[in-house]
Amino acid sequence: MNPPPVLPAQLDGAVPLSRYLDDIEQALLPYDFEPANTLAAVSICRDELTQHVMSDVTGRWGATFALGGLGGIPALGRTGWGACLAHVPERSGRGRLLVIGAPHVGVTPDGELGQNLRRGQDHPTPTCGALSSILASWGQHPPSGPDDSGLADGEAQLLRHLVESELDQKPVGVIELTRAAASAVEREMTAQLDALAPWRTMDVAVFIGIQVHLPDSEDHVVPLVGQFRGPDGSSEAIV
Ligand SMILES: [Zn+2]
Repeated sequence: MNPPPVLPAQLDGAVPLSRYLDDIEQALLPYDFEPANTLAAVSICRDELTQHVMSDVTGRWGATFALGGLGGIPALGRTGWGACLAHVPERSGRGRLLVIGAPHVGVTPDGELGQNLRRGQDHPTPTCGALSSILASWGQHPPSGPDDSGLADGEAQLLRHLVESELDQKPVGVIELTRAAASAVEREMTAQLDALAPWRTMDVAVFIGIQVHLPDSEDHVVPLVGQFRGPDGSSEAIV
């Protein structure tokens, strides 16, 4: 068994992903969330390093809806939410929607934050790449529509807008940037759910954290937010 990884001090409180998902299950027991009555929906970055979270959550809760775009921002829009909410189990009465949202950050074998050494490569690359590019061009606002290449960039520019809205000035480093992204995910998730008010027909639980990719170790999560919203839509902390 490998010794526990040494976590950078800035990521204090991080727990292994498997324990984080255990903790969510335990926290939801009093609210009668179980696989038979629950649809899980996950908002994580598109990076290949994050994607196992979908299968980890699926292994516990059943097939899982993908909410996320670059940086973990819920990017599915009205049509996507319409599909997601329509898929919540209803046979046993009031359904349950479990939302897990997380931006992510990497750590290299040398302990450098904000990068990972990836499969088949000799040099670390940024994690999260989308957040890294925002930091590199802070305050600039490239077009979200097509540029000269013909490619649009709406998701990245939405992420940029939401993250910049969380801060008064350019973040000092990758952790401040990633924490701002987590706040942006929480704020945007709350705004989107408020607009939809799904609690009229289902209970909703939202968990927000930061996914951490460590070298030679299970991914970890810094837990930040856990909340439950029942029939009246009011929010109850359940961390
Ligand atoms: Zn990313």
